[in-house]
Amino acid sequence: MSPTSGSAPDRHRVLIVGGGTGGITVAARLQRAGVTDVAVIEPSESHWYQPLWTLVGGGQAPLDITRRPEASVMPEKVTWIREAATGVDPEAQTVTTSTGRAVGYDYLVMATGLQLDWDKIPGLEKAVGHDGVSSNYAAEYAPRTWELIRNMRSGTAVFTQPAGPIKCGGAPQKIAYLAADHWRKKGVLDRIRVVLVMPTETMFGVPVWRQVLEGVAERYGIEVRLNTEMTAVDGSAGHLTLTDHAAGTEESLAFDMLHAVPPQSAPDWVKASPLADPDSPFGYVAADRHSLQHPRWPNVFSVGDVANLPTGKTGAAVRKQAPVLVANLLAEMRGPHIPRRSYDGYSSCPLVTARDKMLLAEFDYEQQPAPSIPVIDTTKERRDMWLFKRYGLPAMYWHGMLKGRV
Ligand SMILES: Cc1cc2nc3c(=O)[nH]c(=O)nc-3n(C[C@H](O)[C@H](O)[C@H](O)COP(=O)(O)OP(=O)(O)OC[C@H]3O[C@@H](n4cnc5c(N)ncnc54)[C@H](O)[C@@H]3O)c2cc1C
Repeated sequence: MSPTSGSAPDRHRVLIVGGGTGGITVAARLQRAGVTDVAVIEPSESHWYQPLWTLVGGGQAPLDITRRPEASVMPEKVTWIREAATGVDPEAQTVTTSTGRAVGYDYLVMATGLQLDWDKIPGLEKAVGHDGVSSNYAAEYAPRTWELIRNMRSGTAVFTQPAGPIKCGGAPQKIAYLAADHWRKKGVLDRIRVVLVMPTETMFGVPVWRQVLEGVAERYGIEVRLNTEMTAVDGSAGHLTLTDHAAGTEESLAFDMLHAVPPQSAPDWVKASPLADPDSPFGYVAADRHSLQHPRWPNVFSVGDVANLPTGKTGAAVRKQAPVLVANLLAEMRGPHIPRRSYDGYSSCPLVTARDKMLLAEFDYEQQPAPSIPVIDTTKERRDMWLFKRYGLPAMYWHGMLKGRV
């Protein structure tokens, strides 16, 4: 990794905005393919493995193993621009940064991830991290989720999911199962009312896993409220408002513990940029669902959460998108006659259903099961899959994916 200095060139062959899961995976693959002059714009000193935050909140992993210095994951020959991007001009082929400089590019990869809109639910920004309110969606709060779960002996625990696409669509319910299983083991589950609030019509998009999850919720006695959203919260009073969109009703609910997932959208500057998809109410970047290329500017690609793709926003999706994106970017460099690769919408969600059990939901754009592990039946709750999530996947992430190997 070569950090930028005042004398660094302000134009790069490939410029990647964001050094998270997607940005580093693509940078590593470009380096392995022999592309020189790749730069990553990334302001953060830390790189996070977010999928383990669910287990941090469930008291099954320490937070510190989910963080590594950004410098340690940046590929050796890639230039790291330690600034935040603030705008993009695809005609001029420049990205502006927080220091006011314009960085030019031949090819651009948008990999900024998404923005957590805490302020979109009245009261949530003030409440989260205080009183009985937490969220696994931010590193600083995930350990608090476990504190709340561990200390609860009776009362009402509410777990909410907002409307709209979110990263790891299963995470809002996974933490409810980890909590309920803990309370069951401690013998207090029958004294705790567990409410799972979901905006969707069903518990999961793909029927084969939906049925299992309905059984899991029933096993713990979880009250599942479908078509419903939390629309306001008062943390210090321990009250929240639920709006049932199907029935058209509102209800005030007292809680002792709340795990809230914030609404999510593209970063504001991306929403305001010409790259945003006019068809996305959340401002995500327009991308061909198979080539991952911008429909108007073919030298612009996007990967991961910021791309407007009709599939689950997960690190697992990034793992399948990155090789396709890199192949198509290289093809774009070489000319129109080079065949392109196609992304099939693969995403996966490791659905933790107990403190030692997991289902691995893998699916594509058609919401069809797309199993990647031969022989193993991942539609059943399995202990080996839980071990895979806790130990196998993180190792694969740090040593395989971020090195451009898997
Ligand atoms: C609680 C939780 C549980 C999850 N569980 C799973 C799971 O079990 N399995 C799974 O596969 N996925 C899971 N995910 C989702 C997964 O972590 C994301 O989908 C994945 O990290 C997306 O990669 P990304 O590169 O798009 O975004 P990120 O990894 O979030 O990276 C975005 C990067 O862009 C940088 N950035 C932001 N703004 C700017 C800017 N203006 N300029 C430059 N850089 C910028 C950020 O600092 C960050 O480094 C989970 C996520 C959460 C929060």
